[in-house]
Amino acid sequence: MDKIIIFDTTLRDGEQTPGISLNVNEKISIAKQLAKLGVDVIEPGFPLTSPGDFEAVQRISREIEGPTICGFSRAILSDIDKTWEAIKDAYNKCFHIFISSSYIQIKHQLDKNEQEVIDIVRKSITHAKNYTDEIEFSPMDASRTRMEFLYEIVETAIECGATVINIPDTVGYSTPLEFHNIIKNIKNNVRNIDNIILSVHCHNDLGMAVANSLAAVSAGARQIECTINGIGERAGNAALEEIIMQLTTRKDYYNFETNIDTRQLYTTSKLVSKYSGIPIPVNKPIVGKNVFIHESGIHQDGVLKERETYEIINPKDVGIETQGNIILGKHSGKHALKKEAKKLGYELTDEQLINLFNDFKLLVDKKKKIKPEDLEALIIGEITHLTNEIYVLEEVEIYTSNFEISNARVKIKDNKDNLMEAKGEGNGPIEATFNTIKLLIEEAKHLNLNQYRVSSISNDFDSLGEVVVVLKDNTETYLGKGLHPNIIVSSANAYISALNKYICKNTKTK
Ligand code: MN
Repeated sequence: MDKIIIFDTTLRDGEQTPGISLNVNEKISIAKQLAKLGVDVIEPGFPLTSPGDFEAVQRISREIEGPTICGFSRAILSDIDKTWEAIKDAYNKCFHIFISSSYIQIKHQLDKNEQEVIDIVRKSITHAKNYTDEIEFSPMDASRTRMEFLYEIVETAIECGATVINIPDTVGYSTPLEFHNIIKNIKNNVRNIDNIILSVHCHNDLGMAVANSLAAVSAGARQIECTINGIGERAGNAALEEIIMQLTTRKDYYNFETNIDTRQLYTTSKLVSKYSGIPIPVNKPIVGKNVFIHESGIHQDGVLKERETYEIINPKDVGIETQGNIILGKHSGKHALKKEAKKLGYELTDEQLINLFNDFKLLVDKKKKIKPEDLEALIIGEITHLTNEIYVLEEVEIYTSNFEISNARVKIKDNKDNLMEAKGEGNGPIEATFNTIKLLIEEAKHLNLNQYRVSSISNDFDSLGEVVVVLKDNTETYLGKGLHPNIIVSSANAYISALNKYICKNTKTK
């Protein structure tokens, strides 16, 4: 049976989602989970865009075992040299070299003609071959490229030694039948095309990314580039979990294998959502909150009698545990906690388990019934916790009403154990808290609020409230999270955590 190679670009194209900025440790955690999920290739970033991205690619190359690590590079010789430095320590590595091929991009962006582009492709791939045999080449905006020129550029790349040719629908313009034909025509018109792997990279501007990817597979593509939850530039990329569950659920139709462990899909999706701060829509296929809930009486009746009447996927197969609503209480110990965490798909280190247990004890004092979603929120909070925090919230106190301005008192401790306290005000309790924190943390002046979001973790009156704060300076965004039964505390923690990220990043690079 044929195999489909899964190329994950969550950490490169996915990270290009507006408002996302993952730090090195977050990228490493996600890469570890991707390896556990079983992706064949990880594209961990665009090493030359920033020193942070370079470091992330380098550390993932050194620390992640299993998948091939891919170095994304412009078709520029000096870029290729530096990209190699980032990926060279990986056990399996490859280059991914790209250049525009559509007339509109060649003319307006590169200011070149077609022959000049062919020459650049020849030079850059020949150069990259000095480092490794494994080279993927992408003619960017392929779906809007003149077909004769597309054949020529692909043939040139193969001649120079490219081992994977990736055909991107860069702006999400193609339709399934059209994209199928593009792949078929390339197969029929390019010399030696059967010696390389054909890959596709589809964007979702018109909602066709997954459909186009699978249409390409039926025309002979054997690698799909995709991202967890479909995150990415603009409307995003093809969603990995949707592609995988298409191939799995409809194996009778496609008849392909992949290396993916589908039971890791749900955990991976949650982790990426938490780190990126991009929520998963409730109706998102495969991983949305509602996709295994049956509301209509007729459907409920059917599912109770026989699950397959209205359910085409067993939630367990994607890693969702549906049984057991109330799982833990006051008397639960570390061992039970570890077991439940494992059920949810998380393997914790001893240190993480101790911290989780402390958080759990604090929570169980306030909330008697700890549901799986509560535990999962605590676990993700622990995994994503910044270790080098500069400021920590000690106290926050609020006076608020519907007839007067709100007042806040905030006490913060820095990493040298200095305590600072201030009082401030605002139109509501959140603004009052943030204004007071601004009085205490100098650096807050440089940052604007880009996003503020509060959500409840479970459907209980005493639910944990999760807050996401995204701050922005001129160039970058900084995401902070807070989790507490009191949303004022969550808000203060989220704001301080985003500020810590900003301070960490800006003292390191100076
Ligand atoms: Mn892309």
